[in-house]
Amino acid sequence: MPEIDNEVTTTQRDDNGPDEHWDQQVDLLVLGTGAGGLSAAVTAANEGLSVLVLEKTEFLGGTTAYSAGTCWIPNNHFQRAAGVTDDAEVASGYLDRLVGDKAPREVRESYLTNGSTAIDYFTKIGVGFWHSKTVVDYHPDVPGASLGGRALEPQTFDGRRLGKENFGRVRRPVPEFALFGGTMMVRRAEVNQLLTMLQGSPKPAGLALRLGARWAKDRLQYQRGTRLAMGNALVANLFHKLLERRGQVWFNSTAARLLTDDDGRVTGAVVAYRGRELRVRARSGVVLAGGGFSASAQWRTRYLPSPTPQYTRAAEGSTGDTISLAQAVGGTLSEPRDDNAFWFPSSIGRRKDGSTAVFPHIWDRAKPGIVAVNADGRRFVDESVSYHRFTRAMYASNSTTPSVPAWLVIDSRALDRYGLGMIRPKLPKAYLRKYVKSGYLHRGASIRELAGKIGVDPDGLQRTVSDNNRFASTGVDEEFGKGTSPFGLQYGDPNNKPNPNLGPIEQAPFYAMALVPTPLGTSLGLRTNADAQVLDVTGTPVPGLYAAGNDAASMSASEYPGAGCQVGAGLIFGYVAARRAASINNFPPVRPIRTNTSVEIS
Ligand SMILES: Cc1cc2nc3c(=O)[nH]c(=O)nc-3n(C[C@H](O)[C@H](O)[C@H](O)COP(=O)(O)OP(=O)(O)OC[C@H]3O[C@@H](n4cnc5c(N)ncnc54)[C@H](O)[C@@H]3O)c2cc1C
Repeated sequence: MPEIDNEVTTTQRDDNGPDEHWDQQVDLLVLGTGAGGLSAAVTAANEGLSVLVLEKTEFLGGTTAYSAGTCWIPNNHFQRAAGVTDDAEVASGYLDRLVGDKAPREVRESYLTNGSTAIDYFTKIGVGFWHSKTVVDYHPDVPGASLGGRALEPQTFDGRRLGKENFGRVRRPVPEFALFGGTMMVRRAEVNQLLTMLQGSPKPAGLALRLGARWAKDRLQYQRGTRLAMGNALVANLFHKLLERRGQVWFNSTAARLLTDDDGRVTGAVVAYRGRELRVRARSGVVLAGGGFSASAQWRTRYLPSPTPQYTRAAEGSTGDTISLAQAVGGTLSEPRDDNAFWFPSSIGRRKDGSTAVFPHIWDRAKPGIVAVNADGRRFVDESVSYHRFTRAMYASNSTTPSVPAWLVIDSRALDRYGLGMIRPKLPKAYLRKYVKSGYLHRGASIRELAGKIGVDPDGLQRTVSDNNRFASTGVDEEFGKGTSPFGLQYGDPNNKPNPNLGPIEQAPFYAMALVPTPLGTSLGLRTNADAQVLDVTGTPVPGLYAAGNDAASMSASEYPGAGCQVGAGLIFGYVAARRAASINNFPPVRPIRTNTSVEIS
């Protein structure tokens, strides 16, 4: 397998070398190595195009490498194999209801039409997925939502297949979502199994031993475990397929500007690489996949709601500069609306090495014995809704009562049993004290004392806790109906009766943790059409320019239909862009002819 080639002189075709106008010539130039960029690059290389990928940072994978890698793919092959053949139509209706006219329908139709095709394509070349059968869509109350079947998980990948040097390029996962300081990755299903050991189950001992032995061996040679899972597995596997097809990746490299011909066609870019500026020709086009703008404080201030989020768990490279490149050649932004992003409520902590940890609260809010409150000490939402809906509710509540930060309040028993944020279940008291000392966790001997410490209304909090305890005993949340939604129920505790999401807050001391809104991805992006072509102000494609992933406006605006719609959008529109660029004639534009409720599947 070819190693990463950082030398400009390497060519894939005879006519790829320099000439009097160009320092380097390729078919497709791709900016970014997340889901969007790698999908475009692998597809193009697989279609026989020469491909150069520029990655601004020294690492491959962007936010995709941090992610769970989940892809939301209605009508996927697992569903079809199980006899469900109408899911694209059903999902189409769901998106129509959820998104309406906030985003162009033709783009979401393209997502649905090309989603399963793209996954089948990647599966065939060895980028496989598992079926996450039980993952419920984020709006189960909206007709057309799926109660399980649309989410796919990337198969684990053996990083050793990349060779040591290339493996070292793969961005490391979020430390808090892996074991042993972020050096050992485990699948979500495996975490659940391993956690049962804390309850005394001997069953997962075999799994723990197997994973541990492999990790220990890997550490000696590779500094971290090479059995990659989730988003890390996805980007590493795509990287592997790209290298196999002689695609090149230049790290610490970007485009200073795009080049156009007299007709406005994007023909290449001036590339900043190793302190030089090179004119790179891109015969079939340029794909922008820089991951949107979550990591830019300036863009956040300009486009995200107030109070402006100060933190993000997205990778540092997503600063909007690829979007600016497109704007300079006529590309336009989608219309800013709503919150322009997808959201995690996160707690902010400090790691042992002094770095800041932004911990997304994805599952813990749904556990029994936890409430979320605003400055009045009152709840403002069913805590078990999706992270996106929860954060939106924070902002909505904040318009009348300070709710940023919001506070998760929990008692000793629930904290010990379920953990919270960075705090793992069954953590010894000495460690808990460290979290309190650092200000990550707040403790009170009584609810009133806790309220005083976190600056919320003590009467309000006392009333909220009394109400919660009543709801826990009856099993009915009279305020927000927690425990009635299939979404929330999946993350509750099935052994907790009478309601898996409701438990008393009664065992002192009591604890609280602050949550702030953090974008995990941005939904405002370049206007594109169904073929991933960037559009100008008149809605006409800028020839030769494509966008995928968060650089493109989200197909669902800032509505979050289900787990995996962002990595899904990267994979799908990267694939669409590359197929279009590879063969305009052989890959007809996606123009589904459909009624209100059906979609034509190619
Ligand atoms: C903890 C976490 C978990 C998540 N889990 C999921 C999930 O399971 N499913 C899901 O759908 N979404 C998930 N998300 C969101 C999702 O990961 C991102 O929205 C998505 O991966 C973005 O993909 P992308 O290809 O657009 O960008 P990225 O993956 O961020 O890749 C962009 C790359 O482009 C590079 N780049 C930027 N500018 C330039 C430039 N000018 N030149 C060259 N390179 C440049 C960046 O450095 C980066 O490497 C999660 C997010 C987080 C933080």
